[in-house]
Amino acid sequence: MIHVRFSPSPTGFLHVGGARTALYNWLFARHHGGTFSLRIEDTDRQRSSQEFTEDILEGIKWLGLDWDTGPIFQSQRLELYNRYIETLLSSDKAYHSEEEGKKAVRFRMPHDALEFKDTIRGTITFDASLIEDFVLRKADGFPTYNFACMVDDAEMRITHVIRGDDHIANTPKQIALYKALGLESPQFAHLPMILGEDGARLSKRHGATAVKEYRDLGYLPDALVNFIALLGWSPGEDREVVSREEMVKCFTLERVGSTSARFDKTKLDWMNSLYIRQTPAGELLRGLKPFLSRAGVDVGGLEESWLKALVELYRERFKTLQDFFLQTSFFFTEEVEYQPEVVDKFFKKETLTGVLQEVHDELSGLEDFKKETLEGCLRRLVESKHISFGKLAQPLRVAITGRAVSAGIFETMELLGKEKTLKRLSHCLHTFCRAGSPPEANLPRA
Ligand code: GLU
Repeated sequence: MIHVRFSPSPTGFLHVGGARTALYNWLFARHHGGTFSLRIEDTDRQRSSQEFTEDILEGIKWLGLDWDTGPIFQSQRLELYNRYIETLLSSDKAYHSEEEGKKAVRFRMPHDALEFKDTIRGTITFDASLIEDFVLRKADGFPTYNFACMVDDAEMRITHVIRGDDHIANTPKQIALYKALGLESPQFAHLPMILGEDGARLSKRHGATAVKEYRDLGYLPDALVNFIALLGWSPGEDREVVSREEMVKCFTLERVGSTSARFDKTKLDWMNSLYIRQTPAGELLRGLKPFLSRAGVDVGGLEESWLKALVELYRERFKTLQDFFLQTSFFFTEEVEYQPEVVDKFFKKETLTGVLQEVHDELSGLEDFKKETLEGCLRRLVESKHISFGKLAQPLRVAITGRAVSAGIFETMELLGKEKTLKRLSHCLHTFCRAGSPPEANLPRA
């Protein structure tokens, strides 16, 4: 039976690299029908915090990576580590030392050459004589990372250690400990580094690296999981869009490359748009509501079916949940903010006034405000004026949305409703259009 774990140190927020480690462990466990455990490595008392622990757990949950056991906290297992210390001390494989005037315990590092076979990297050899006797128990009574990690991996019967390649240098120390205790080492698999677009190791310099930043920007967990999965692993056949179920089915460490992966933000945005297009409107709406509320929209006061229709109308257009509100804000306000450059471009023509006034009058007379009715009405109008619909559509769009880009004009008017549509039209007529130009001086002929 396969047992793996994700064992973050709560010394920072869950970042993309940590999320990938967690995901690969989870996929590996689910693929093999093994177990996935969570362990919080909080033995560095100065740098560990409750806030980071909560952030990590929340992030893992949000990504949908369920765990089978844990989280266990190393800070609560001192007794266990001390038992192992006693064993090592009594066989002279460890000894008391003095660190900063206080008693600590160091491991007597054997000096024979060390070699291990990394599942991803192949054979890695170390000159153990270059590794000094390292501390097992610090002066504050807490174990060091290498020691606690090894003890817990042994206690939890971890079969595969899948982690970032920044831990390669720790591996010989951990293997030496297994040997000293007469225990078998797990299989190690070190994941390649994640680089930013400029080829340097991914860091805050490259923008958002914390999982919660992506959550707060409105990326969907499924999209982020799919994207992160491809940072080092490939499902084969150039496939990129892979559901969780498919990933579980075909995830193997053999398909994890040893060369570093590149974090491509454009690809993440593309992936997110794609998942937005595929997600049922009701589910998207659940994700969107907190964003709308945060933007000041009284979501409870709106019809669910109206909101769903709006989601359907915009699902091809928004890239993130946050972006949805940015694109649709004019639906949620009484007054529209008109972008000055757009107004200048479309309204400062005296020729417009007549037609927009007629649009207003025609629409006022409509009984129903369905998109088909609106389309029929406006197409008849432009025909009678011998102008192309395109000439009318853009100023009309600006009048009711305040912007030059929106979803389909008829659908937009239908969802906005008669009252708001007319109110905006007449506002524009009074504010931006030059009054008094005769209806004959209409738009240029098509
Ligand atoms: N606590 C270590 C870290 O956060 C994990 C080490 C391991 O997976 O062995 O990097």
